[in-house]
Amino acid sequence: MFEELGVFLRLGDATDVVTKEMYDFKDKGDRHIALRPEHTAGICRAFAQHRPNTPWKVWYSGSNFRYEKAQAGRYRQFDQVGIEVLGSADPLLDVEVIALGWQFFAALGLRNVELLVNSLGDPSDRAAYIQALKTYFSQHSSDLSEEAATTLLKNPLRVLDSKRSQDADIIAGAPTIKDFLSSEASEHFATVVAGLDVLGIPYKLTPGLVRGLDYYQRTVFEFVSTSLDNAQTAVGGGGRYDGLVEDLGGPATAGVGFALGVDRTLLACDSENVFGLGSLEVDAFFVDVVNGMSALRLCEEVRAAGFTADRAFDGRSMKSQMKAADRCGATFAVIIGEDEANAGTCTVRHLATSEQHIIPQVELIQYLSRTLGERHPRRTSQ
Ligand code: AMP
Repeated sequence: MFEELGVFLRLGDATDVVTKEMYDFKDKGDRHIALRPEHTAGICRAFAQHRPNTPWKVWYSGSNFRYEKAQAGRYRQFDQVGIEVLGSADPLLDVEVIALGWQFFAALGLRNVELLVNSLGDPSDRAAYIQALKTYFSQHSSDLSEEAATTLLKNPLRVLDSKRSQDADIIAGAPTIKDFLSSEASEHFATVVAGLDVLGIPYKLTPGLVRGLDYYQRTVFEFVSTSLDNAQTAVGGGGRYDGLVEDLGGPATAGVGFALGVDRTLLACDSENVFGLGSLEVDAFFVDVVNGMSALRLCEEVRAAGFTADRAFDGRSMKSQMKAADRCGATFAVIIGEDEANAGTCTVRHLATSEQHIIPQVELIQYLSRTLGERHPRRTSQ
């Protein structure tokens, strides 16, 4: 949860997450420590410290802390799950990492996630590109928004991230990284893209994608939800960070990974109705005037089939249970008296019309599906 401050400071002084947003403090032993703003630095620190065999494939899940301007989808404490692979620069490893992220969102049931990819080149390509951006944006600095002009002084790359309309045209005319990539970096990226094609994973080549953390080089990618309508649409992202372990005092080691934002992923799930919560109304209210056992069992069965159900407790009278059914706005009251319990049937009463039928209990789910439509059955571990 926390690390020595120095671990994060090595992430670079142009990274907002480190310079502006870190929660740092002295502990009782006067050690200067920080709540982690991200996980990758801690993973690389652990690698440098313990020197495991490579390729080292690890995953994590947990909270991060950033002193950000809190808003919808952007919190000061948020959770991420992520993976990192240390010890190989093979572009097909980038593809494997991206594919795992892609499959994670697909397996959750999200359909409106787009993959954006770019290459930031090698450090020297990146440096030349930053220089070209600096020159270009400086020529237009009087037309940039105040925020973008301030960003330009610290990190010209991040000007590309500005979402302000005032900056849009200037950004659209800016040089792109493509023209600065060395032939090795271009080849590396071409293989990443070819690998995505082989797996049939759709992607958008996005030359303006630079990502917020300074340590990325070569491949960078982001997963964006098109069903989130606030400004925070990135549900995950990652890239290659071949120099980071060395910066943290370890041997030169290539690395690639991603972090998926759990909070935003859940917001995306809600906006795509992935969990099929459906309506909050009660489909069936069980009125069991025998001993409550039929209500216990049938409630479970219809809930597992995806319907909403409720029942009365405390052995209340038929009249009191019917009142409860009415009060909760249930569509059907499912009544089990002595006769029904003995015959294995139930009386299904449509509360709005008072129309009712006696049906076998084993046909209840079929009956509900026919009258209310199919629902999403509860997921099982299979
Ligand atoms: P990053 O570590 O900045 O590359 O972010 C990776 C992912 O974490 C993003 O795509 C978001 O989904 C999520 N994330 C980053 N910052 C926040 C935040 N302040 N609140 C909620 N989610 C965040």
